[in-house]
Formats: sequence, structure tokens, C-alpha cells
Amino acid sequence: MNQRELFFKNIAQTSTSPLAIEIEKAKDCLLTDINKKKYIDLIGGISVANTGHCHPEVIKAIKKQLAAYLHVMVYGEFIESPQVQYAKQLTDLLPLSLNSVFFTNSGAEATEGAMKLAKKVTNRTQIIAFNKSYHGSTQGALSIMGDEYWRNAFRPLLPDVLHLEYNSFKSLEHITEKTACVIAETIQAEAGIIAPSKEWMQVLQKKCNEKGTLLILDEIQTGFGRTGKLWGFENFDIVPDIILLGKALGGGMPLGAFIADKKLMNQLAENPVLGHITTFGGHPVCCAAGMAALKVLLEEKLIDSIYEKEKLFHSLLVHPKIKAVRSCGLWFAIEFDSFETNKKIIDSCIKNGLMTDWFLFAPNCLRISPPLCINEKTIIKSCKKIIKAIKQSTKI
Ligand code: PLP
Repeated sequence: MNQRELFFKNIAQTSTSPLAIEIEKAKDCLLTDINKKKYIDLIGGISVANTGHCHPEVIKAIKKQLAAYLHVMVYGEFIESPQVQYAKQLTDLLPLSLNSVFFTNSGAEATEGAMKLAKKVTNRTQIIAFNKSYHGSTQGALSIMGDEYWRNAFRPLLPDVLHLEYNSFKSLEHITEKTACVIAETIQAEAGIIAPSKEWMQVLQKKCNEKGTLLILDEIQTGFGRTGKLWGFENFDIVPDIILLGKALGGGMPLGAFIADKKLMNQLAENPVLGHITTFGGHPVCCAAGMAALKVLLEEKLIDSIYEKEKLFHSLLVHPKIKAVRSCGLWFAIEFDSFETNKKIIDSCIKNGLMTDWFLFAPNCLRISPPLCINEKTIIKSCKKIIKAIKQSTKI
């Protein structure tokens, strides 16, 4: 059996039509398949490869840690320098109240841990989440996912979850003394890049403070420069009680985290002891990789040119078939009239050597979330490919 046949035979599939492109290597913004076909990666593994694929500094850090030690003990028992150093680096870049890091293996696990922390700290059970939100696929995270189509087959899920309209002031009336936490994406990703108003975010935070409710912001896609600021919440001049990180956090390695104030986080160590534990969360190789990637992001000043690059994309993505271009930094949803139109365009892009896809709750929108190191020449080339794909697919 060849590799492709084995892929379909032995790998669990999550859809009936996976792309099944066999990658040989990935570097910067470029993917190469086993037939030497090159693809500009316009989605960066879905907001993961912010510093580009296989940055030499990240690879160097991984190799260095490989030579020292891999897994040695469950999280929290031994002092592992990559965890400690990365936690310091992250908290130095965050507001004072976000000073204690719990590393996990994934974004969904960060969601799970943060929800448990909120329940423990507040001694309340109600969790408020928003329609069209995505926070992961495990059962707790699925319970707060903002779409019944994906939840329904897996019921019963977590009780006492309330789903509300995002960016609606009326929704905020539901936050009461019973609410343990409100969990929201800082900017909704899978809804097709939906940014709330600054005023709404500020009122949300105020309401949470008034009611003793914790505000959890999911920065799993908005973190690490994606929106033009290091953290998405900086766009709103607020400081949440807990943030969730994942995706770019590991520099291409699997890593998640929830970050809160030490006073809150201490609650996981007592009554019961070991209130939240993980074997591999904060794996030393993943922390070393993430730390190197964050250093690259800052030293190469990748965030500084984001607004300029955003403008360039806007100036080039013009076609009568495009209904809207929503963006926030280097993060775009290109809206078409239907999923069918979008799918044809995406297929054509991939055929022409450009990797993109659609959004879970906005299937009529094409996703752009490239490595932040993408240069002007590659942006121009990418937009030409998109416009060509639109013309080929719509005959306009
Ligand atoms: N939160 C958001 C906003 C995400 O986009 C994702 C993944 O796509 C997650 C949480 C879950 O992260 P993971 O897939 O690492 O569990």
C-alpha cells in the first residue's frame, strides 16, 4: 500500500474529504509536497506558524532541549527551566494581574482548565459563552461551543451553560451573581473574523467585575501578534481575569496555557490537592520552541509591519464577486455569496499553489491568516492567485 492508501486506511478521519496533500517540507511561508509542488501557506496551520515554518532559531532551541531532557515528571513537580523561563517571558509581556501560567498540551485543555478554575474560585456553576464561538473539541469546550449543530450529537454536555449573542449589550443583562465566568474569543475567529466594539468589551468587563464573575478571553487565535498587537485584548483597553493561549504559543509544537493571577491559580493546589493536572502539559521541548518563537516575533519586529501588510491585502483584494473583506491585522475573512462559490475558489487556489480554507461558522468566507513574516512580494503573488481563482471559478 502506498502512503496515501495507508492514510485513508489507518488514520482516523475527521471529514469525508480531507485534502490529503502529503507534505515533504515547510519553510517560512512555503509548503512543498512530495511531488515538489509548492504552496504559499496563507493560513499558517490555522494561526500557528506566526514566525513562519521551521524558523532556524526555533529548530535550534528544540535541538538544544532534545539534547538535555524530554519528559521527566508530571507537570509541576520538578523545576523545568524551559517552563519557568517561558512563563517568565510571557508574564513579563502581560499586565501585572496575569502572572501565573498553567501550561497544557492544547487550546481545548486550556479552556477546560480555565472553566474549572472559574468554578472553583467563584463557587458558582453558570458559564456564559457566545453564539458562533469555538473554544475546542473536548466535552467541556464543546459544551460552550456556539452552535447546536456541532453540540447536538454529543449530549448530554455540561449543564448550566448559557449561550448569548456576541457584541450585544442586551446579552450582558444575563450576567448575574450566579455566573462563574463569561468566556469569549477576543475577536471571534471561526465566525469569520468578527470584532466586537470596544465599548461592548469594556461594558462586558465592568459587568463581570460588578457581579464577581471572571472574564475569560480566548486568545488562542488572537494572541502573538495576529491582530497587529501582541495580545488581542490590547485592542480594547481591558484586562481579562484569565486568558487562554494555544496555537502560536508553541512555535509549531503542541502547547496551550491558561494564565491568571497567582491568587486565583493557587485554588487548583488545594481542596482538592491536584485540582488540575497533566502529564505532558508544558513539555520542555514545546516550551523551548515556544520561547524561541516568541523571541523571534519580538526581535524581528514582525508585529510592526502588520497594519501595512493588512492595507496591501485590502488594496489588492478587489473583485465584484467579493462581498466584503473583514480584517483585523494579518487576519482576513473574504466573503462570497455562498459556500459553493467559496469552495470553488478555494479549490482553485489550492490547485494553483495557494493554501487557504473556510471558517467553521462562516463557510462562505475564505480564510487568510498567514505567517506574520509574509513579505510584500508574497502578498502580491497570493492576491493575484486569489483573484485568478475567483475569475476561473465565477467566469467574471
Ligand atoms: N479556541 C480557539 C479560538 C481556537 O481557534 C481553537 C482551535 O482552533 C481552540 C480554542 C482549541 O485549540 P486546540 O485545537 O489546540 O484544542
